[in-house]
Amino acid sequence: MKIGVIGAGQLGQMLALAGHPLALEFLFLDSSADCPGARVGPIVTGRFDDPASLRKLAAATDLVTYEFENVPVSALEKVAKTRPCLPPIEALRVSQDRLLEKELFRRLRIPTPPFQAVDSIDELRAAVTAVGLPCVLKTRRLGYDGRGQQYLRRPADIDPAWAALGGVPLILEGFVKFDREVSIIGARSTRGQTRCYPLADNEHRGGILRVTRAPYRNPGLQRAAERHLRRVLDHFGYAGVLTIEFFVQRGRLVANEMAPRVHNSGHWTTEGAVTSQFENHLRAILGLPLGDTSAVGHAAMVNYIGTMPDRERVLAIPGAHHHDYGKAPRAGRKLGHGTIVAATAAGRDRLLRRLLRHVPR
Ligand code: AMP
Repeated sequence: MKIGVIGAGQLGQMLALAGHPLALEFLFLDSSADCPGARVGPIVTGRFDDPASLRKLAAATDLVTYEFENVPVSALEKVAKTRPCLPPIEALRVSQDRLLEKELFRRLRIPTPPFQAVDSIDELRAAVTAVGLPCVLKTRRLGYDGRGQQYLRRPADIDPAWAALGGVPLILEGFVKFDREVSIIGARSTRGQTRCYPLADNEHRGGILRVTRAPYRNPGLQRAAERHLRRVLDHFGYAGVLTIEFFVQRGRLVANEMAPRVHNSGHWTTEGAVTSQFENHLRAILGLPLGDTSAVGHAAMVNYIGTMPDRERVLAIPGAHHHDYGKAPRAGRKLGHGTIVAATAAGRDRLLRRLLRHVPR
């Protein structure tokens, strides 16, 4: 069985690493052959919307999945004519547009910040009045890791925010004064079996995930997050792994966004859960029984951004694991991650502090 993966970044690399023991083979599509996936499988080099490259990928594989969110929907629709393509393309289409995503959350009774679509400076002024200050102006499409966002604190911020982002479809969201950010990851198989991981507690800096701690134990929030996630999974008749990121505000979940794929905040599951998110994604799209999503201890994951720490020092920490994606260092680029697994939360936090001392900031 050969799986085609659109995108050959670290997520694709980790999918293949999880799939090899299941006797799965992988073929990637990416615009460059110099990418993490190339270390674990062959690459079709071509743009994500190049019909010839997509045909080549589909012809050589049994099933196609994607690890990259900005794959053009039209490209996937072409692939789906000849090969099963999972997760469902409709989930990708919705997740690519922050407005459609928030409208879906609202329809499924999943709480969101107040929001309004903005396509002109007049609409921005009206939206600021409706949503209230402070608020965040975001591009509806192609924004990630905090890119394409402007914070508005006072009326004088309206014109500069419009100057920075105006001209493409936008969404204005109320600023959430959150206590923490959490995410839930779950899998639904083609047979309709569903499993959710424990909540993960995520620390961002400059819009980029830095540290995840899991499990984040809060039975009330876990129940609410699972309810929300299952509604989204069932809505799409989903197959694969799906992630929802939430703000926690005064003890309540407020949905920020979803990703129809394995997620950075789930990297801890490779060593910190009985079955990793990568293996469960593959099991889900292949209709195999899903694996146990329980945590095996207390885990923390640290992203290595821009510079790698010294491997030997990291590995000298008890319970530490080191992942190097093999990428050329560049400021702001995710180059690898480290994971700590310990028997107790306090032990995990102590070892995490030790790991963080070796991670350039
Ligand atoms: P996003 O690209 O939407 O995930 O945003 C990146 C980060 O910006 C989030 O993880 C939050 O830390 C922050 N952020 C985004 N939207 C909001 C909001 N409406 N209120 C407060 N913080 C936000």
